Amino acid sequence: MSPRRSSGGAGCIRYVIAIVMAALALFSYLSSKQTNPVTGQDQYVSITQEQEIAIGLQSAPEMINQFDGEDPDPQAQQIVDMIGQELVQSSLANQGDYPFEFHLLADRETINAFALPGGQVFITRALFDRLQTEGQLAGVLAHEIVHVIARHGAERIAETQLTQGLTGAVVLATYDPNDPRTQQTAAVAAMIGQLVNMKFGRDDEIQSDSLGVKIMAQTGYDPRAMIEVMRILDEASAGNRPPEFFSTHPNPENRIAQIEAAIREVFPNGVPDNLRQ
Ligand SMILES: [Zn+2]
Repeated sequence: MSPRRSSGGAGCIRYVIAIVMAALALFSYLSSKQTNPVTGQDQYVSITQEQEIAIGLQSAPEMINQFDGEDPDPQAQQIVDMIGQELVQSSLANQGDYPFEFHLLADRETINAFALPGGQVFITRALFDRLQTEGQLAGVLAHEIVHVIARHGAERIAETQLTQGLTGAVVLATYDPNDPRTQQTAAVAAMIGQLVNMKFGRDDEIQSDSLGVKIMAQTGYDPRAMIEVMRILDEASAGNRPPEFFSTHPNPENRIAQIEAAIREVFPNGVPDNLRQ
């Protein structure tokens, strides 16, 4: 009993440190709660709007490099920029106070669109070329604009900080350097952390689709183009690696049903015929 007890004593201190670590991580996460002025929802964000903008500006050149640089076609670039800015200025997105920049990337292989925190929005030439109407381009950009104004990136950063804090605590509490099996526990803890973040990602996508519908309608676009975008992405993914736009996503059918519900909310008496396509 006594040798066990002494090793239990060291373990006990480790547990106390682990609990304090977990409590600190949880406390700093929960105390970062604030109401988003654009979505009206409570959210947990640990960085300021200025920091978001700085992170976006700093990471943009690397993103542009990764996707073969800015597209050399000035006309196409201008269309992306014009529609993007119009969506921001004519809709609820103008309350967000983010300096938006829209980039058409030269990559003709990767079908993708994404946004960095703070207002840097990107679409690849591969996706741009598959779109048939201005309304569909507006759909893609509106979806990305919501990621920015709803501060999804900042939420992810706060979640990652929480997850790292909690994972660190579990690893510390269960890891025994003399027993290699405990490494498995650490791996499981890390995996759970990833799953938690993945689920948040799905919720973010649904919100971006639904609020994107609203932004489109406020700018005068027929929001049904968002459904067409889903079909285009679905077709593009058939037989191929799924587009990254879809990577954290519920299945397209589910997503289309959610978009249809959002459209009914904006236009309870049916979509008018005179909207831009
Ligand atoms: Zn998205």
